Amino acid sequence: MPHLLNVWPSVSRRLASASRVLLLFDYDGTLTPIVARPEIATLSEETRRSLTTLAGMDKFVVGVVSGRGLSDLEALVAIPGLVYAGNHGLEISGAGMDFIHQDAPSFEATLVEIAKSLERGLGGVPGILVDNKRLTITVHFRSTPDSYASQVDSMVVATAAPYVDSGTMRITRGKKVVEVRPNLDWGKGQAIEKIREDCRDNPYPVFFGDDQTDEDGFTVVQDAGGLAVFIGPPRQNTKALHQLESPAEVQQTLELLTCLDQA
Ligand SMILES: [Mg+2]
Repeated sequence: MPHLLNVWPSVSRRLASASRVLLLFDYDGTLTPIVARPEIATLSEETRRSLTTLAGMDKFVVGVVSGRGLSDLEALVAIPGLVYAGNHGLEISGAGMDFIHQDAPSFEATLVEIAKSLERGLGGVPGILVDNKRLTITVHFRSTPDSYASQVDSMVVATAAPYVDSGTMRITRGKKVVEVRPNLDWGKGQAIEKIREDCRDNPYPVFFGDDQTDEDGFTVVQDAGGLAVFIGPPRQNTKALHQLESPAEVQQTLELLTCLDQA
C-alpha cells in the first residue's frame, strides 16, 4: 500500500494531465483529527486556506462527504463554492447541487422514535451522545469509558432490532460510533457517483477517507480510474490503494495540490 507522498511525482503527473479533478474528502479523521466531542472538530487555518484556494481554481471541484448532517457540515466548514454531502450522501448541496434522496424524509418520524428510545436506554452511560441528524442517527461513545463499549453497541442493536428486522433501518459502525440509518441502497459511494455525474467534463475523481463508511467511496473512485486514499496506519482491510498517515499529511497534500498547475 504506497504512501501517497512517496509516489507523489507520478500521482501529480496524472492529476496535472486531467483537465478537471473532483477532490472529495471525508471530514472527521480526514480533514480534522478525531476529537472527544464532534462539535469541537474544527478545520485548522492551514486546511481552511488550502481548501479555499483549491475551490477557487478552475481545475478542481472540491467537496466534503460526511456522515454529519448537512447543515452541521456546512456550518463547520463554511467555505463557499464547495459541494457538501451530509448524512452519508442522503443530502447534497453547493456548487449547483441541491439533492435529497427521495425516500429519506419518510424515515424522519421513525428516527425521532428510535432516538428517544436510545436516549432513554443509554441515559445512564457516562459521556454518551445520541445525535439525531434528521436522516440518520449517530451514537457517539468516544467520551465513554471503554468498559461500556459493548454494552452501548448491544443497546443500539436491541433498540433498533424491530426496525432492522422489518427492513426499515440498518446499523453501521465506525470509530467509536454506532449508527442507525434508513435501509436504503445509498451511501458515500452512490453520493460520490452522483456528484461526479453532476459535474461537467467528467472529472478525475479523488477521495480521501479514514473509516468504514468511506470504503464504498474508495471503490467507486477507483472503479472510475481515480484515486482513493485511506487516512491512517497502513492496513490490509481497506479497498483504498493509497495511504496517508494522518489529517496533518492530508494538509501537506492539499498544499501540494494548490501548486499542481505550476508542476
Ligand atoms: Mg471519518
